[in-house]
Order: sequence, then structure tokens, then C-alpha cells
Amino acid sequence: NEKIIEVKGLKTHFHLHDHTVRAVDGVDFYVNAGETLGIVGESGCGKSITSMSIMRLIQSPPGKIEGGEILFHGEDLVTATEERMRKIRGNKISMIFQEPMTSLNPVYTVGYQISEVLMLHRKMTQDEALKESERLLDLVGISDPEERVNEYPFQLSGGLRQRVMIAMAMACQPEILIADEPTTALDVTIQAQILHLMKDLKETQNTATIFITHDLAVIASFTDRVMVMYSGVCVEQAPVKELFKNTKHPYTEGLLSSVPVLGEGKYEADGKRRFLKTIEGSLPDQRNYPKGCRFAPRCKKAMAKCHEAEPALIDLTDEHQVRCFLYSDEIQVKEEAGKNGK
Ligand code: SF4
Ligand code: MG
Repeated sequence: NEKIIEVKGLKTHFHLHDHTVRAVDGVDFYVNAGETLGIVGESGCGKSITSMSIMRLIQSPPGKIEGGEILFHGEDLVTATEERMRKIRGNKISMIFQEPMTSLNPVYTVGYQISEVLMLHRKMTQDEALKESERLLDLVGISDPEERVNEYPFQLSGGLRQRVMIAMAMACQPEILIADEPTTALDVTIQAQILHLMKDLKETQNTATIFITHDLAVIASFTDRVMVMYSGVCVEQAPVKELFKNTKHPYTEGLLSSVPVLGEGKYEADGKRRFLKTIEGSLPDQRNYPKGCRFAPRCKKAMAKCHEAEPALIDLTDEHQVRCFLYSDEIQVKEEAGKNGK
């Protein structure tokens, strides 16, 4: 299995005038060719900052990638030039955001916006680009594409706009598609349709995908492997079936117990969304993480040592990693802030 992207020890911090927010503080994962990696965790755990870091879209200052590597076919994007990133962004790595209205330009037609991408990244002529735009709209399940290309974003429903965003993201035939809560802003029926569409695209186009969500039902029906994030760190990573069957981390257990029915199709049939209601408490303050395990204040299995030191992410098997003292005494070695270490 070829690893298209490999993120090692990623740290992205925000330096505000009197404190530092360690939004992403040690994240490790990889994505193989053609697979979908789910990144799951509560809002504020660092999921979106992780994806923005991959795209190098962190506003600096105050944000800064403080450590780690983002290896794209072995090339470190953390140290890549801005010029190089412009060639990669929206071309080899595309992103779909939660709210399509903010990423579509209201003053241009849908066809114009998709054509722009095609002319820029695939060097098509205007005529070719318009034809290809129609084909892409058809690919994402929009009927009458030859008419839709002439419409403006405000003429489309939320679901159609998200389909247009997906068409735009697919326009450059990216190697990786990053979808950050692409369905959160949509109503339940449309969410299911968009998820079906993304699943179809994944099967027909074989695009590797990073799917960010706080909805475990989506993870269960849509991803191959899962990385669970908590307070800026990866706490568990495993193939999706393994994660559900052989859950190790107490936080993951808490997440899973908030989803009563799992499996193919259940998301649509059930339609309800459950977000970690069963875990009491909230994420720790990002300015001042607890001294030991970051989950300790909420963990029912916490032991004395959990409040003293932070556990390291360890390999249970080749494919299953966990960060918890129930499985290993190994301690996370702290680096000095600001160093670009591993
Ligand atoms: Fe709970 Fe301790 Fe494991 Fe943290 S290290 S998840 S506090 S048992
Ligand atoms: Mg987010």
C-alpha cells in the first residue's frame, strides 16, 4: 500500500498576545492510495486546523506550524515554498468546506467558476473547460448540467451548492480530497445524498480522501481507517472495523457508546445525529492542558499516574495505535516549544 500522505508529529500553535493556543499538538497519521481516512473528535479538538495545516492555509501570524512533517509522496509540505504550495493546493490536494456559500464566488456562474479551475490547472481552452464543467456537474448528480452552468450560486439549494463544490474539488483530479464536515450545514436527507455521492466518487475515481467529522455514524459507513483526535493529539488510530470491534482508548469508547446503531445504511435510515452526549465534561483549555493525560479529567478509568505524565502513542499492532496508560507505560517525550522536531 502506497502512502500518499504521511503526517508525523504535527504541531500547529497560535501565538496570541498573552498566551499560546496549542490547537494541534502532536498528530500522526497517513493515508494510503484510494482509501478514506476519517478524522473524528469533538469540535475544537484540532481537526480543521489539521486539514488547514496540510493545505498550508494557516494564517501566520498568529498561527504557525511549530513541528513535525507533512510528507506528500515524501516531500515535506511544512517546508515547501509558497510557490510550490500554489501548485499543490486545489490541484493535487483539494478541499471541500462545511459551508459552500463561503467558498463559491457569488458574482460568477457555476460554469465560469469550474471552468476557471480547469483552465488554470488542466490548461483547457474555454470551450473544453465548459464541456468538462458540464460533465463534472453530471458526475456529481446534477441534472440539466448545460443549464446549470449558467446559474449563480444563490440560485442553487444548499445541497446543489455542495455538489458544485465537490465538482470543483474533483475538477483537477486531485490525489487527495479533504472534506471538512462537508454535510454538517445540510439537512438530513441532503446529507445522506451527499455522502452517497462521495462514496460513489471514491469508488469510481479512486481518490484518496480525508473525511473530517464529529459524526460517528458517518465514520462507520464511509471510512476505511479512523484517527481519533482529542485536545490536539491523536489518541487512537485503526481500521474502522477494528476500531469499532476492538476499541481501546476510553475516549473512543465514550464516543462509540453515543452511537447506538452502526453499519451500512443505518445513518440514512435513522437520520439522527449523536455527538458524544455520554461523555461528561468538556475539552480542556487549549492554553493550559492538564499535566498528565489530556483526557484524565473526564476519564472513568484514570489512574494516579494519568495525572502525572502524558502517555505516548504506541503501536498495539501495525495498524492499531493508542495513547493510553492502560496499554503501555511509555511516556510522551516533550520537546521544547518552537523546535521543528519529530
Ligand atoms: Fe484514561 Fe489514563 Fe488512559 Fe488517559 S491514560 S485515557 S486518563 S486511562
Ligand atoms: Mg471544524
